[in-house]
Order: sequence, then C-alpha cells, then structure tokens
Amino acid sequence: MSYFDFSNFETSFNNYIKYILGKQFEHASKNDQLNAVSYAVGKYLIDISYDTQKRYQENDVKRLHYLSLEFLIGRLLNNNLLNLGIYKRCKRFLETKGIDLDLLVEEERDPALGNGGLGRLAACFLDSLACLNMPGFGYGINYDYGLFKQVIVNGYQKEKPDYWPNRRSPWLIRRTEERYMVPIYGRVEGSVDRDGEYNPTWTNWSLLIGRPHDILVAGFEGRTVNYLRLFTAEASEDFDIDIFNDGDYFKAVGRKIKSETISKILYPSDSKEVGKELRLVQEYFLVACSLKDIIRKYEMDHHTFDHFHNKVAIQLNDTHPALAVAELMRILVDEKGIQWETAWEITKKTLGYTNHTLLPEALETWPVTILERVVPRHMQLIYEINQRFLEYLTVRDPDITIESIAKMSIIQEGPVKQVRMANLAIIGSHSINGVARVHSDLVKTQLVPEFYRLWPERFNNKTNGVSPRRWIAACNPGLADFITEAIGRRWVGDLSRIWELETFENDPGFLDRLGEIKLANKEALATLIRKKLFLNVDPQSIFDIHAKRIHEYKRQLLNVIHIIHLYLSIKEDGKDIGHPRTFIFSGKAAPGYHFAKLIIKLIHSVANVINKDPDIHDMIKVAFLPDYRVTLAERIIPAADVSEQISTAGMEASGTGNMKFAMNGALTIGTLDGANIEIAEQVGGENIYIFGLTVDEVEAFRPNYEPKTFYDEDPDLKRVLKAIYSNLFCSDEPGIFKPVFSQLMGNGEHYLHLADFRSYVATQLKIGNDYKDRAKWLSMSLKNIARTGMFSSDRAIQEYADGIWGIRSFRG
Ligand SMILES: *Cc1c(COP(=O)(O)O)cnc(C)c1O
Repeated sequence: MSYFDFSNFETSFNNYIKYILGKQFEHASKNDQLNAVSYAVGKYLIDISYDTQKRYQENDVKRLHYLSLEFLIGRLLNNNLLNLGIYKRCKRFLETKGIDLDLLVEEERDPALGNGGLGRLAACFLDSLACLNMPGFGYGINYDYGLFKQVIVNGYQKEKPDYWPNRRSPWLIRRTEERYMVPIYGRVEGSVDRDGEYNPTWTNWSLLIGRPHDILVAGFEGRTVNYLRLFTAEASEDFDIDIFNDGDYFKAVGRKIKSETISKILYPSDSKEVGKELRLVQEYFLVACSLKDIIRKYEMDHHTFDHFHNKVAIQLNDTHPALAVAELMRILVDEKGIQWETAWEITKKTLGYTNHTLLPEALETWPVTILERVVPRHMQLIYEINQRFLEYLTVRDPDITIESIAKMSIIQEGPVKQVRMANLAIIGSHSINGVARVHSDLVKTQLVPEFYRLWPERFNNKTNGVSPRRWIAACNPGLADFITEAIGRRWVGDLSRIWELETFENDPGFLDRLGEIKLANKEALATLIRKKLFLNVDPQSIFDIHAKRIHEYKRQLLNVIHIIHLYLSIKEDGKDIGHPRTFIFSGKAAPGYHFAKLIIKLIHSVANVINKDPDIHDMIKVAFLPDYRVTLAERIIPAADVSEQISTAGMEASGTGNMKFAMNGALTIGTLDGANIEIAEQVGGENIYIFGLTVDEVEAFRPNYEPKTFYDEDPDLKRVLKAIYSNLFCSDEPGIFKPVFSQLMGNGEHYLHLADFRSYVATQLKIGNDYKDRAKWLSMSLKNIARTGMFSSDRAIQEYADGIWGIRSFRG
C-alpha cells in the first residue's frame, strides 16, 4: 500500500537496541523494544517530513496554523503504523523476534495533553490535515503534567499527577537549533519619534524562553507528514545577549525569570474559566512563541507583509489563544513598522476563531489589571483596537444604543474591569464559527446577536468530526476488516464511501457477523471490567455507555436516576425490565467541581447496592471505569450497544463522543442537542432514540420551571428522589447525597433533569424492547455505521480549508 519500502526497518530496529541502547537483544526490556520500533517508524516519518516541507516550500503554499492550549493525541505507534500502511509488515517482522506487536503497542504511554472534546478535536484535525495532504500544523504547549490520573478510593475521585515523560518520548523531537525569547511583564514608555508619531517602548520586561518540540503527524498512506509543534518553557543560562536593547548585561541577567513553571501543567477544567495568572501567562506564551515561529518561517521566503494573509492562516481553538489578535498587531505595528490600518486588515484576514461553548461560566474574561501587569503593551493595543471599533460603531450607526455598545465592547465595565476574550477574538477575525449547526445558530441568536447583525458574513458553521483512522480502523480492527472485506479499503481515506455498506443490508449472514464483532468487543470490555473492578458483567446484556467528562449539563444524573428507577421497579414492584442491562460510566470531574465529584460517588454507591442485591438476579449491573482517556475510549466505544448523549438541549456545543459511538454501531439515546441533531438527520429518526425537550422548548420552559411539580405528580420520580435523599445508597456515610436531592429540587434547576425524566424512561423502555429483536437491532446498528460518513473530520477539515483558511490539498 505505502509507496516507500520496508527493507531498512529491521536494520533501524536492531541498530537502536545495539548502538543507541548499547544492549544485546535478549536484554532489551519491553519498553526498549517499544522504543526501538518507535524509533524505526520515526525515521520514516522524518524522511517523509523532509520531502513534505520541501514540497511546501518550493511551491510557496499557504499554511494553516492551528493554535490550541490542548492536543489530546493519544498513543501514536499504532496509528502511525496504520497510516504508513506498514502495520502488518511490522507485525510479521516482530514475530520473527518473538514479539507480539498487538501487546507491544499497549506498553505506550497515553499523553494526556488535553481535557476532553476540544483537545481531541484538535488531534483529529491534525490527522485529517495530513491525510488530506494539506499544509496544516498544530501549535501547543509541551506540558510536563497532562490531565491528572483519576483513581477511585471508596467511590470518591482522587487526582494523581500524570507526569508525561516528554523528554524521553520517542515521538518528540527537540529542536535544539531553535528557541524563542518572549518578553513579559515590565512597562510601556510612550515617546514620540522623529516624524512625531507615537512610538512606545516596552521596557523592563522579563524574559521567557520557548523551545519547540515536534511530534510528526503522518497522513494516510504516507505521502504527507506535518507536525504538531509544542513549546516548552526553558530557563537558559546562555541566551543571546543581542536581544537586550539597553545593553546592560547585569540588568539583563536579572530579568531572566524562572520560566520552567509555565509549561509545567495543564489546567484541568474543560468548561470553566480558571482566572489564574499562570493560565494567562501560558496563553500568552503559546501565542508569542507560535507567532515568532510562523513569522520567522514566512520571512525566509517573503520580504513584505502585504500578502501575509495569502500565505498564512491562523485558527484560534476557542478564545484561549485570543491574545494572538494583539500580538500580531504588536509585531506588525511595533516591529515591522506597518501602518495601523494596513496591519489591522492583515490581522483580520489571517485569523479565524472557533467558539466551543455557550456556557456563561466558560466564557473567558481577564481583569484589565492582570493584563496590564503581564502584557502591558498588549493591553494598550487592546484599548486602541477597542476605541477604534467603538468609533466605527457610532459612525456606522449614529442611533446605536448605549446597551449595544456596552455589549460589544471588548472591555466589560464594572467594579473590576474585564477584557472579554470572545469579543477580542470576534473583532480581530474574518471568520467566527460554531461546531454544530444548532450551536452556530445559537452563537448568532443568543451569544453575540449584536455582532451577527453587524457582520453576518463572518459567521459560519463547521460541524465537528472525528478521524476514521483512529476511531474505526485502529480502535475496532474487527469491524474495520469486516467493512473492508465488504466494500474495499477506500472508506479509510474517504468515509463518504461508507454508505456502500448498506447494500449488504439484506445479506443474511452479514448482520450476523456484525453482531459477532460487537459481541467480541463486548467480551473484551467485560474482561477489562473484571480485571479492573472485580465485577462480572454479561456480554449478552445491553451495554449502555455514558463516557465523557462529568458535568451537570451532560446529565450523568439523569442516567443514574433512571437506573435507580429500574432497580426499584424490580425490587419493589416485581417488574420485568426486559433485557438485562449493563450501565457503564467513565469520566473525570474537574478537581474543584465538588458537585460533579459527588455524582461520581453516587454512581459508585448505587453500583455497590445494585450489583450485590440478589433480588435483581443480575438484570442490572453498574460499572464505573476509572481514568477515562483516549486509550480507554478506544476500548469502550467499540463495545457499546447504546450511547448516552443526554445533555440539556442547547448546552452541548457539538459533542464528538456521539459521533465515535454511532460510527462503531452503537445506537444513540439523546436529546436534540449539538451534533445529535445532525446524527438523527443522517441515520433517520427510526434509527436513533431521541427524547426530551428541544432547544426552543427549554428556552420557553426554563423561566417557570418548578421541579417540585414533577416530583409531586410522578410517583416513580418521587420514589427515586426519596431513595437518594434517604440513606439507601449510603448507609455507612449517612446524608451524603442530600445535596443531590436539594440540587435537583432547587427552583430553576438549570439542567432540567426532572422535566426530561418521563420521556427518558419511556425511551429507555423502548430500547429494552427493541433490543430483543436482534435482526432489527443489528439493522439499525448497520445504518448508524453506514450513514455517519459525514462525521469524518476529513469532511470538517475540507470545509474549513475551502471556507475559512484558503489552503489546498497538495500531494506534489
Ligand atoms: C471524544 C472524547 C471526548 C469528548 O466526548 P464528548 O462525549 O463529546 O464530551 C472526551 N474525552 C475523550 C478521551 C475522548 O476520546
């Protein structure tokens, strides 16, 4: 398949062990073997990357730079072997050495340089850019500590540091020849230059040093290798003295600050702004290093900035890198001497902004005082950008209201003046996109309607996608081989072909085999559950899976309430609940999010009671798999019958877990939220379980919502809530779940759990019945696999490339 040859793989492998490790093969540990294979694969990547870069440079192509504080990449060996098309050859070679490749890939660490969906999206996008042979590169931070490891002690989440041995990863190339000096803190002194122009100097700053490290990203079939560039903050003893403009050596040394802390740790919240100065410093560090790198490259081949935006596109993954607006202006105006108006046009045409959330608590703002201290020149530029923008507003529409101006201003007035990063990103970008159709509509109508009325042409939608290489081919080889046998291999590089599977719908043996593949995946997960939790679950039961960050809006609680309801219907009413079910949860709560941590405890407590109760006759099992991360998702998703996507309508921007589950043949139970709406359109209403209030209904409903009415009028619900309030699930820690009861019964309960309960129960009942009809279920499952081709991140990237970035596929 691949166009290069495999012959030197063996030599590379042997040489690594012999000459680099200085060991005899018999003494090489598993980890040595893993490193040797990775090294041999890495050599191919480097060769192809040289070719790729040369091609890009010779043809002076436009490049895309994806700036993100998170890249949740997962393990790399398996995917690299698969994308290069050498998995089978590598496996055969290792067999001659007595090594099982399938086991060896399990030795690799899973770098957790992201929290969840947003970071995983960035990783899928890099995969797709390389697979589409497009010049697109990731820019992020090389954290020492990624997202914490979750351990469960007596049902409670505890966080353990997860040190990523990035300094020793075989995939990480330290660029010793490059480093960037980033000024920070200090003050701005205004002065007037010879032409009478205001000419500020940023003085007395301290210095950060950013060292690039690259992870190479291989496209499918190995034509293109791009990179993800991660910056480590280093302290340096021997920096280049030329950069000190006042020439005072001793003062200069004094300004070098201990910068290593900056890339030490990833902030562990995926939906709440933290507001810590170190986080702002990280954001600035990423932006400043990235822009220095981008501009250094640009200037190697170009001498003016007039056409910068024709060669460079920069996408901001959420507002975290929004300081890029000010930093690019600073470089163009202060360093390159470009007129403000020209610089502003270039900046806007270069930048695009992706919004990821409507949750008010997640919208990023920073106190002006902090920005003034950390990046005084940028704060000054932000004021200037804002002043010109507000002037433009009043000139454009002299009747504009004070309220509209106040909403659009970058500065939020109040006791503590704040900078609104979303407004900064919107004003400084030519494109603003949401991540699913309904979300993009809500950005226009609810989040920033004033901006939408001002610049409707800047707003657009790019529905998320996931990589079919990682999320089908690599994680579900049984299914992948089965698909390939039926329709050939093209689907891996072009998931729009996957619909061809439907033509086999009436082949009698076909659905049966699909069922066997699912069962095998469920057996593998059952084994994992037994090993990790000492719990036996039946692979013949319905595997109903809720795996994602723990958050009230994702409504793990609604799921738990239903499980308790099923439990009590068996226990107290002697009801038959249909087919046996295994409810599997997995997910981390932010360390400071106490209520989410209580939900984790509740899941464990409920599991403890139900799993042990002989009256239930194993009709229900509940399992919580700790430490959800990419590697675990790769095991869980292929084994799902039912995918829980039950967020309160209007609160999940898109979701990508929903896509991964559906394309692996799980049926979705979900609200009409985020990309669920588009999944329902694709698979057809008869192949998905939609329930609950819609976005419009939620909006109309919320002002008068009184949970107590539902409690009083629904005896099943009342019974469940009383059970939570009582000590049924917490006899040795009485009263601990009372806050759950109060939260659910609180007036205006924001997530509308009780309002959606009845509809959720009815839909779950239908699932229980439908599952019994195996042929029907498998046919629905097949339609989910065959009709979710549009949720490939290749489709998403093609839309970004055509609609926002102006980059093209370039195979050479
Ligand atoms: C896909 C993925 C997510 C996102 O899941 P959602 O259900 O969209 O919230 C989070 N974490 C990991 C490890 C993932 O693979």
